[in-house]
Amino acid sequence: MRLAVGLTAKPLVRIALMVISILSIEGTIPAYVIYLTYTYGGTGWWLWLPGTTVTIAAIVLVLPWCQFLPYFARPTVLLAMIVAAGHARGLVSACACAAFLLAAYALIRSWLNRSSLRHEAIEISPPFASGVYFVAQGGGSSEVNHHFPVECQRFALDILRLNWLTMRAWGFFPRQLGRYAIYGTQVLCPVAGVVTAVVDGLPDMDPLVQQDADHIAGNHIVIRCAARTDTFLGLAHLLAGSLQVREGDAVSAGQLLARVGNSGNTTEPHLHIHAKTGGTPDSMLDGEGVPLRIRGRFLMRNDLFRGLSRREVC
Ligand SMILES: [Zn+2]
Repeated sequence: MRLAVGLTAKPLVRIALMVISILSIEGTIPAYVIYLTYTYGGTGWWLWLPGTTVTIAAIVLVLPWCQFLPYFARPTVLLAMIVAAGHARGLVSACACAAFLLAAYALIRSWLNRSSLRHEAIEISPPFASGVYFVAQGGGSSEVNHHFPVECQRFALDILRLNWLTMRAWGFFPRQLGRYAIYGTQVLCPVAGVVTAVVDGLPDMDPLVQQDADHIAGNHIVIRCAARTDTFLGLAHLLAGSLQVREGDAVSAGQLLARVGNSGNTTEPHLHIHAKTGGTPDSMLDGEGVPLRIRGRFLMRNDLFRGLSRREVC
């Protein structure tokens, strides 16, 4: 999925990463041995459970296409695929092993980064009032966060919402914006600070088929954080006409800012949010990325979090 603000595709980097992943010995070889043992080893049945658990965790957390499955059904669907692949031979089995290696590598790399980045991150409150949200892109490596190669967006999050069936939308890539769970959701201010930029009036894009390359952030708001005045927070792809603040306004955490839309360079409605330091105060597309924490967690792809409870809003 391409949900980025102004990303340029770097296929060579991605291919290089894949090759490095396959060749890497960073944790993948032991995992590979476990996989082979439970798949082919007649006496290695006791490794089957931990092996399967690691495999499912790796794939569920890492692969972006999992986002098209209902959240609750992902482990079941993936378990069925893994078992089927485990009983296959030849090319299918080789592909399954390769997918597992890549996923395990990305997972290990991202988890290693997660704990170190948590300490330097800026804490923000959930930008929504209620509901369950998940991270479509996010984390401290290119495998789980497509923003990572772009300096100012390094630790950006692309956030989607789950509906009652734990799906992000009704349909695969529906054309109607209202079928996306997050579309129109109120965006609450995640930090106290001062608004340094507001852009409004840009139209929603048609999901998947239309992107606004001239206004990559679409309708957006930039806030200078009161707790760290050298740090700015940008919120992008907002709904035209829904923005409630103006440049120079002092804002507090929990205050209504706007609604989620689909303006700018976006393939489907989502909230893009990132923190940066340096650059110009009225732009969210320069400077250097700063890691974010929500409720103390440095989030990565496929992590879930809840919006503010009624008590937290009051
Ligand atoms: Zn993004």
